[in-house]
Amino acid sequence: MIVMKFGGTSVESEEAVARVTSIVKTQVHRRPIVIVSAMGKTTNKLLAAAHEAAAGRRDQALAIVDELRAHHLLHGLALAGPAAAELDRYIRTHFDWLDELVKGLSVVGELSPRSMDAIASVGERLSSLVVSFAFRAAGLDATHVDARRVILTDDRFTQAQPLFEQTYALLKERVRPIAETSVVVMGGFIGATEDGHTTTLGRGGSDFSAAIAAAGVDAEEIQIWTDVDGMLTADPRIMPGGRRVKSISFAEASEMAYFGAKVLHPATILPAFEKNIPVLILNSRRPDVEGTRITALAMPCKNPVKSISCKRQITILNIRSTRMLMAHGFMRRIFEVFDRFETSVDMVSTSEVSVSLTLDNAENLDRIHDDLRQFSEVTLEENQAIVCLVGENIRHTPGIAGRAFQVLSNKNIRMISQGASLLNLGFVIADKDLPDAVSALHKEFFSEVDPAVFA
Ligand code: ADP
Ligand code: ASP
Ligand code: MG
Repeated sequence: MIVMKFGGTSVESEEAVARVTSIVKTQVHRRPIVIVSAMGKTTNKLLAAAHEAAAGRRDQALAIVDELRAHHLLHGLALAGPAAAELDRYIRTHFDWLDELVKGLSVVGELSPRSMDAIASVGERLSSLVVSFAFRAAGLDATHVDARRVILTDDRFTQAQPLFEQTYALLKERVRPIAETSVVVMGGFIGATEDGHTTTLGRGGSDFSAAIAAAGVDAEEIQIWTDVDGMLTADPRIMPGGRRVKSISFAEASEMAYFGAKVLHPATILPAFEKNIPVLILNSRRPDVEGTRITALAMPCKNPVKSISCKRQITILNIRSTRMLMAHGFMRRIFEVFDRFETSVDMVSTSEVSVSLTLDNAENLDRIHDDLRQFSEVTLEENQAIVCLVGENIRHTPGIAGRAFQVLSNKNIRMISQGASLLNLGFVIADKDLPDAVSALHKEFFSEVDPAVFA
């Protein structure tokens, strides 16, 4: 049994879903469970509709819903063959319900995380239906399973955490037996609380759903089908032309994902690692490219650095103790504030009297700032970026930091961290300097590459 996950661009249109169908057909003998994201940019649009409605702009919200309805009908029905009328009913029912919800929100003028999840979930609920209809019309034996019946989560709406034990038991009981004989199709990203409220696992969470499903059914492989050839040596949105990394370890991939490689949701690796299930990153537009293989032990590699990850638009907080020296308990008080606002810190560096740290989630910044000011002086630096060299060999190759500093010698480096994990070396620089810095670092570390590991 394998799990195949197809991201938003891989299911965005009739043509894209047709490509997915032919890819899945080549692997039916491996008993795939197919996990899909919402079609194209549907999730963004659903959330935009929710915000418009809550701001009282009812007509704008309904117009977005109309646009989405038209897209799903146009691209979905074309794929459903003789079952088009049935799919038409399903799609319209979902959108009628959305219309009502959006109207309700525009009256109430408020958007709770729970309503946000109810609305955002519609993307995956629909795309999974569309794909299951397309599979059947193409002659595959396919069964749609509502992910909310098997992925149980806590009630932290918009960022829900799976209840692993219960979820794995349900996947074994409800999904595995069907997958023995039929291609199971489920929406990624969504789940439900034990009392049945719809939740989501956080943006980009379909990758995580795929890993959870794979761990639950003891799959032998997880395939993440997306719009790039695999994990690349640099983020293509910042530096096009990076090399494909053929083989990478769970630890390296997880570090890359954590420091901004959007190609993989950072939570994906843990279930795969725990059950030792290899993860492949593949391109649904170029299915013949062999992609990236992520396993416990990567292939030996002559290059110290495997990839350069980056996170844009982060904020540095400089927190200075109001006493002369760093008093006992200062760190604890700082981290209690972040804990209270459930905000994670990416990078930390300390001196005698001050602590600098970076946040990528500025949602609660004002309130965090206020709380920290009770016992410290705080300054903020916005528009910063983290650039991070990742590779298991960094730990036993001398001189990496020196080479990186040399390359960045004309940039103002605000913070440095040689990761506690020993496989990353990170810098914080101004966001405007990022493209130049990545290109220069790439030239330094990837001018010569080990052909066994890089394409
Ligand atoms: P999907 O919708 O399939 O989940 P995503 O947009 O979430 O796709 O992830 C794929 C994108 O990740 C790529 O289009 C690319 O822009 C981005 N990305 C960032 N860093 C990397 C990297 N190091 N290698 C490959 N892709 C990366
Ligand atoms: N559709 C969701 C999102 O856009 C989940 C995903 O694509 O992984 O965040
Ligand atoms: Mg994604």
